[in-house]
Amino acid sequence: MFRYSYNNKRYHTLDYFYKTTFNEKICKLCFNIGCSCPNVDGTKGFGGCIYCKNGSGDFAGDKNVSLKEQYNSQRKIMERKWPNASFIAYFQAGSNTYGDLEYLKKCYLEVLSFEKIKGLYIATRCDCLSADCLEFLKLLNKKTNLVIELGLQTIHDSTSKLINRGHTQEEFIEAFKMLKANDIKVVVHIINGLPYENKEMMIETAKFLNDLKVDGIKIHMLAILKDTKMAKLYEKEKFPLLTKEEYIDIVISQLEYLDPNIVIHRVTTDPNINDLIAPKWLVKKTVLLNDIDKEMKRRNTYQGIKNI
Ligand code: SF4
Repeated sequence: MFRYSYNNKRYHTLDYFYKTTFNEKICKLCFNIGCSCPNVDGTKGFGGCIYCKNGSGDFAGDKNVSLKEQYNSQRKIMERKWPNASFIAYFQAGSNTYGDLEYLKKCYLEVLSFEKIKGLYIATRCDCLSADCLEFLKLLNKKTNLVIELGLQTIHDSTSKLINRGHTQEEFIEAFKMLKANDIKVVVHIINGLPYENKEMMIETAKFLNDLKVDGIKIHMLAILKDTKMAKLYEKEKFPLLTKEEYIDIVISQLEYLDPNIVIHRVTTDPNINDLIAPKWLVKKTVLLNDIDKEMKRRNTYQGIKNI
Protein backbone atom coordinates (compact mmCIF):
# COMPACT_ATOMS: atom_id res chain seq x y z
CA MET A 1 0.00 0.00 0.00
CA PHE A 2 1.29 3.45 -0.92
CA ARG A 3 1.47 5.40 2.33
CA TYR A 4 3.12 8.75 2.47
CA SER A 5 0.56 11.33 3.47
CA TYR A 6 2.10 12.04 6.86
CA ASN A 7 1.32 15.79 6.79
CA ASN A 8 2.67 15.97 3.25
CA LYS A 9 5.87 14.18 4.20
CA ARG A 10 6.93 10.89 2.72
CA TYR A 11 7.92 9.50 6.08
CA HIS A 12 6.07 8.98 9.36
CA THR A 13 6.94 12.12 11.28
CA LEU A 14 6.67 12.53 15.03
CA ASP A 15 4.40 15.54 14.51
CA TYR A 16 2.02 13.39 12.48
CA PHE A 17 2.15 10.65 15.10
CA TYR A 18 1.33 13.09 17.92
CA LYS A 19 -1.51 14.72 15.99
CA THR A 20 -3.10 11.40 15.10
CA THR A 21 -2.56 9.92 18.58
CA PHE A 22 -3.54 12.88 20.76
CA ASN A 23 -5.67 14.91 18.33
CA GLU A 24 -3.92 18.10 19.37
CA LYS A 25 -0.59 19.86 19.15
CA ILE A 26 2.00 18.25 21.40
CA CYS A 27 5.33 19.88 22.31
CA LYS A 28 8.21 18.35 24.22
CA LEU A 29 9.45 20.05 27.38
CA CYS A 30 13.00 19.10 28.44
CA PHE A 31 13.80 18.39 32.08
CA ASN A 32 17.22 18.05 33.66
CA ILE A 33 17.01 15.96 36.84
CA GLY A 34 20.77 15.80 37.32
CA CYS A 35 21.34 12.21 36.22
CA SER A 36 24.89 11.20 35.43
CA CYS A 37 25.95 8.48 33.02
CA PRO A 38 27.73 5.18 33.81
CA ASN A 39 29.96 5.80 30.79
CA VAL A 40 31.12 9.05 32.36
CA ASP A 41 31.41 8.31 36.07
CA GLY A 42 33.56 5.18 35.77
CA THR A 43 30.88 2.54 36.38
CA LYS A 44 31.13 1.44 32.74
CA GLY A 45 33.78 3.83 31.50
CA PHE A 46 35.32 7.25 31.86
CA GLY A 47 34.99 10.24 29.59
CA GLY A 48 31.80 9.07 27.87
CA CYS A 49 31.13 8.50 24.20
CA ILE A 50 33.76 10.36 22.21
CA TYR A 51 31.25 12.56 20.36
CA CYS A 52 29.44 13.57 23.56
CA LYS A 53 29.97 17.13 24.65
CA ASN A 54 28.67 16.05 28.02
CA GLY A 55 31.30 13.42 28.57
CA SER A 56 32.42 15.71 31.35
CA GLY A 57 29.13 15.07 33.14
CA ASP A 58 28.10 18.68 32.63
CA PHE A 59 24.71 18.26 30.99
CA ALA A 60 22.55 20.89 29.35
CA GLY A 61 19.80 22.59 31.35
CA ASP A 62 19.95 23.65 34.93
CA LYS A 63 19.48 20.74 37.30
CA ASN A 64 19.44 23.18 40.22
CA VAL A 65 16.23 24.78 39.03
CA SER A 66 13.10 23.06 40.40
CA LEU A 67 11.09 20.87 38.04
CA LYS A 68 8.16 23.23 38.37
CA GLU A 69 10.31 26.17 37.30
CA GLN A 70 11.75 24.19 34.38
CA TYR A 71 8.17 23.39 33.38
CA ASN A 72 6.82 26.92 33.76
CA SER A 73 9.58 28.63 31.79
CA GLN A 74 9.45 26.20 28.85
CA ARG A 75 5.65 26.08 28.80
CA LYS A 76 5.56 29.86 28.55
CA ILE A 77 7.86 29.81 25.51
CA MET A 78 5.92 27.03 23.78
CA GLU A 79 2.57 28.72 24.39
CA ARG A 80 3.72 31.86 22.62
CA LYS A 81 3.62 29.84 19.40
CA TRP A 82 1.08 27.14 20.26
CA PRO A 83 -1.31 28.56 22.89
CA ASN A 84 -3.37 25.35 23.11
CA ALA A 85 -0.57 22.82 23.06
CA SER A 86 -0.20 19.94 25.50
CA PHE A 87 3.16 18.46 26.46
CA ILE A 88 5.37 15.42 26.66
CA ALA A 89 8.02 15.62 29.38
CA TYR A 90 11.40 14.77 27.92
CA PHE A 91 14.08 13.61 30.35
CA GLN A 92 17.07 14.24 28.14
CA ALA A 93 20.23 15.10 30.07
CA GLY A 94 22.40 12.14 31.02
CA SER A 95 21.00 8.64 31.55
CA ASN A 96 17.61 9.19 33.11
CA THR A 97 17.07 5.77 34.69
CA TYR A 98 20.51 5.89 36.31
CA GLY A 99 20.71 6.83 39.98
CA ASP A 100 18.66 6.51 43.15
CA LEU A 101 15.36 4.95 42.13
CA GLU A 102 13.34 6.71 44.85
CA TYR A 103 14.62 10.06 43.59
CA LEU A 104 13.86 9.12 39.97
CA LYS A 105 10.33 8.00 40.92
CA LYS A 106 9.72 11.29 42.70
CA CYS A 107 10.85 13.27 39.64
CA TYR A 108 8.78 11.30 37.12
CA LEU A 109 5.65 11.49 39.28
CA GLU A 110 6.07 15.17 40.05
CA VAL A 111 6.37 16.08 36.37
CA LEU A 112 3.44 13.85 35.52
CA SER A 113 1.28 15.85 37.94
CA PHE A 114 1.86 19.11 36.01
CA GLU A 115 -1.00 20.47 33.96
CA LYS A 116 -1.26 19.29 30.33
CA ILE A 117 1.54 16.73 30.60
CA LYS A 118 0.36 13.84 28.42
CA GLY A 119 3.29 11.50 28.73
CA LEU A 120 6.91 10.85 29.66
CA TYR A 121 9.80 10.37 27.27
CA ILE A 122 12.83 9.05 29.11
CA ALA A 123 16.26 8.88 27.44
CA THR A 124 18.66 6.34 28.87
CA ARG A 125 21.19 3.60 28.16
CA CYS A 126 20.49 -0.10 27.81
CA ASP A 127 22.68 -0.84 30.84
CA CYS A 128 20.68 1.43 33.16
CA LEU A 129 17.52 -0.62 33.51
CA SER A 130 17.61 -2.57 36.78
CA ALA A 131 14.86 -5.04 37.69
CA ASP A 132 13.42 -2.57 40.22
CA CYS A 133 13.54 0.24 37.69
CA LEU A 134 11.72 -1.93 35.15
CA GLU A 135 9.00 -2.70 37.70
CA PHE A 136 8.43 1.02 38.18
CA LEU A 137 8.47 1.69 34.44
CA LYS A 138 5.78 -0.96 34.06
CA LEU A 139 3.60 0.97 36.51
CA LEU A 140 4.33 4.26 34.77
CA ASN A 141 3.43 2.66 31.46
CA LYS A 142 -0.02 1.85 32.80
CA LYS A 143 -0.45 5.38 34.11
CA THR A 144 0.68 7.43 31.11
CA ASN A 145 2.13 7.46 27.59
CA LEU A 146 5.61 6.23 28.31
CA VAL A 147 8.46 6.05 25.82
CA ILE A 148 12.00 4.91 26.59
CA GLU A 149 14.73 6.18 24.29
CA LEU A 150 17.78 3.94 24.03
CA GLY A 151 21.00 5.09 22.43
CA LEU A 152 22.56 2.58 20.04
CA GLN A 153 24.21 4.81 17.40
CA THR A 154 25.43 1.89 15.29
CA ILE A 155 25.02 -1.86 15.08
CA HIS A 156 28.70 -2.26 14.18
CA ASP A 157 30.93 -3.37 17.04
CA SER A 158 34.09 -1.85 15.56
CA THR A 159 32.50 1.61 15.46
CA SER A 160 30.85 1.14 18.83
CA LYS A 161 34.26 0.44 20.30
CA LEU A 162 35.86 3.37 18.51
CA ILE A 163 33.27 5.80 19.88
CA ASN A 164 33.53 4.26 23.36
CA ARG A 165 29.86 3.40 23.80
CA GLY A 166 30.73 1.16 26.72
CA HIS A 167 28.01 -1.41 26.15
CA THR A 168 27.63 -4.40 23.85
CA GLN A 169 25.02 -4.99 21.16
CA GLU A 170 23.82 -7.96 23.25
CA GLU A 171 23.11 -5.66 26.21
CA PHE A 172 21.15 -3.38 23.89
CA ILE A 173 19.09 -6.24 22.44
CA GLU A 174 18.41 -7.69 25.89
CA ALA A 175 17.19 -4.33 27.26
CA PHE A 176 15.12 -3.69 24.17
CA LYS A 177 13.40 -7.07 24.37
CA MET A 178 12.78 -6.68 28.11
CA LEU A 179 11.03 -3.33 27.54
CA LYS A 180 9.00 -4.62 24.62
CA ALA A 181 7.99 -7.75 26.56
CA ASN A 182 6.34 -5.33 28.95
CA ASP A 183 4.63 -3.33 26.21
CA ILE A 184 6.84 -0.31 26.75
CA LYS A 185 7.45 1.77 23.63
CA VAL A 186 11.10 2.11 22.60
CA VAL A 187 12.68 4.73 20.35
CA VAL A 188 16.28 4.16 19.27
CA HIS A 189 18.85 6.87 18.63
CA ILE A 190 21.34 6.30 15.80
CA ILE A 191 24.11 8.42 14.29
CA ASN A 192 25.06 8.52 10.62
CA GLY A 193 28.52 9.54 9.49
CA LEU A 194 30.45 7.93 12.34
CA PRO A 195 34.16 7.55 11.48
CA TYR A 196 34.93 4.97 8.81
CA GLU A 197 31.33 3.78 8.37
CA ASN A 198 30.12 3.51 4.78
CA LYS A 199 26.60 3.79 3.39
CA GLU A 200 25.99 0.03 3.53
CA MET A 201 26.93 -0.09 7.22
CA MET A 202 24.51 2.72 8.06
CA ILE A 203 21.73 1.01 6.10
CA GLU A 204 22.49 -2.20 8.01
CA THR A 205 21.89 -0.36 11.28
CA ALA A 206 18.50 0.84 10.01
CA LYS A 207 17.58 -2.62 8.72
CA PHE A 208 18.55 -4.15 12.05
CA LEU A 209 16.22 -1.78 13.90
CA ASN A 210 13.46 -2.44 11.42
CA ASP A 211 13.79 -6.18 12.05
CA LEU A 212 13.71 -5.57 15.81
CA LYS A 213 10.41 -3.68 15.27
CA VAL A 214 11.34 -0.56 17.17
CA ASP A 215 8.53 1.95 17.75
CA GLY A 216 10.55 4.91 16.61
CA ILE A 217 13.95 6.04 15.38
CA LYS A 218 15.94 9.21 15.84
CA ILE A 219 18.39 9.62 12.96
CA HIS A 220 21.26 12.00 13.65
CA MET A 221 24.23 13.19 11.62
CA LEU A 222 27.53 13.13 13.45
CA ALA A 223 28.34 16.64 14.66
CA ILE A 224 31.98 17.25 15.55
CA LEU A 225 31.80 19.43 18.63
CA LYS A 226 34.51 21.48 20.29
CA ASP A 227 36.19 20.02 23.38
CA THR A 228 35.26 16.42 22.61
CA LYS A 229 37.47 13.41 21.97
CA MET A 230 35.83 13.16 18.55
CA ALA A 231 37.17 16.63 17.73
CA LYS A 232 40.68 15.47 18.61
CA LEU A 233 40.30 12.32 16.51
CA TYR A 234 39.01 14.39 13.59
CA GLU A 235 41.91 16.78 13.87
CA LYS A 236 44.39 13.90 13.96
CA GLU A 237 42.95 11.50 11.38
CA LYS A 238 40.86 13.83 9.20
CA PHE A 239 38.41 11.00 8.55
CA PRO A 240 35.97 11.87 5.77
CA LEU A 241 32.70 13.50 6.80
CA LEU A 242 29.51 13.05 4.83
CA THR A 243 28.55 15.84 2.49
CA LYS A 244 24.98 17.08 2.74
CA GLU A 245 24.10 15.23 -0.50
CA GLU A 246 25.60 11.97 0.81
CA TYR A 247 23.72 12.34 4.08
CA ILE A 248 20.41 12.94 2.28
CA ASP A 249 21.02 9.88 0.11
CA ILE A 250 21.77 7.69 3.14
CA VAL A 251 18.80 8.93 5.20
CA ILE A 252 16.42 8.31 2.31
CA SER A 253 17.89 4.84 1.77
CA GLN A 254 17.41 4.07 5.48
CA LEU A 255 13.81 5.34 5.41
CA GLU A 256 13.08 3.09 2.45
CA TYR A 257 13.85 0.04 4.57
CA LEU A 258 11.82 1.12 7.60
CA ASP A 259 8.30 -0.15 8.14
CA PRO A 260 5.83 2.74 7.63
CA ASN A 261 4.59 2.27 11.21
CA ILE A 262 7.96 3.19 12.69
CA VAL A 263 7.79 6.81 13.81
CA ILE A 264 10.69 8.96 12.62
CA HIS A 265 11.45 11.28 15.51
CA ARG A 266 14.28 13.05 13.74
CA VAL A 267 16.24 13.00 10.51
CA THR A 268 18.87 15.52 11.49
CA THR A 269 20.84 17.05 14.33
CA ASP A 270 20.50 20.38 16.11
CA PRO A 271 24.02 21.22 17.25
CA ASN A 272 24.84 24.30 19.24
CA ILE A 273 26.34 26.56 16.57
CA ASN A 274 29.00 27.82 18.98
CA ASP A 275 30.21 24.26 19.61
CA LEU A 276 30.09 23.01 16.04
CA ILE A 277 33.36 22.35 14.23
CA ALA A 278 31.92 20.38 11.30
CA PRO A 279 29.96 19.80 9.15
CA LYS A 280 28.77 23.36 8.81
CA TRP A 281 25.81 22.39 6.62
CA LEU A 282 24.12 21.07 9.78
CA VAL A 283 23.43 24.65 10.81
CA LYS A 284 20.76 25.08 8.12
CA LYS A 285 18.31 22.56 9.50
CA THR A 286 15.23 23.76 7.60
CA VAL A 287 17.13 23.70 4.32
CA LEU A 288 18.25 20.14 5.03
CA LEU A 289 14.73 18.98 5.91
CA ASN A 290 13.36 20.58 2.74
CA ASP A 291 16.10 19.02 0.65
CA ILE A 292 15.26 15.57 2.03
CA ASP A 293 11.60 16.13 1.10
CA LYS A 294 12.51 17.37 -2.38
CA GLU A 295 14.82 14.45 -3.04
CA MET A 296 12.23 11.92 -1.86
CA LYS A 297 9.73 13.51 -4.22
CA ARG A 298 12.24 13.53 -7.10
CA ARG A 299 12.93 9.82 -6.55
CA ASN A 300 9.24 9.17 -6.02
CA THR A 301 10.09 7.20 -2.93
CA TYR A 302 8.75 6.96 0.60
CA GLN A 303 9.30 5.24 3.94
CA GLY A 304 9.01 1.49 3.68
CA ILE A 305 9.07 1.22 -0.12
CA LYS A 306 11.68 -1.55 0.16
CA ASN A 307 9.99 -3.10 3.17
CA ILE A 308 6.79 -4.29 1.53
S1 SF4 B 1 25.75 7.46 26.96
FE1 SF4 B 1 24.84 9.41 26.40
S2 SF4 B 1 25.25 10.78 28.13
FE2 SF4 B 1 26.57 8.98 28.37
S3 SF4 B 1 28.50 9.65 27.45
FE3 SF4 B 1 27.33 8.55 25.86
S4 SF4 B 1 26.18 10.15 24.77
FE4 SF4 B 1 26.95 11.07 26.69
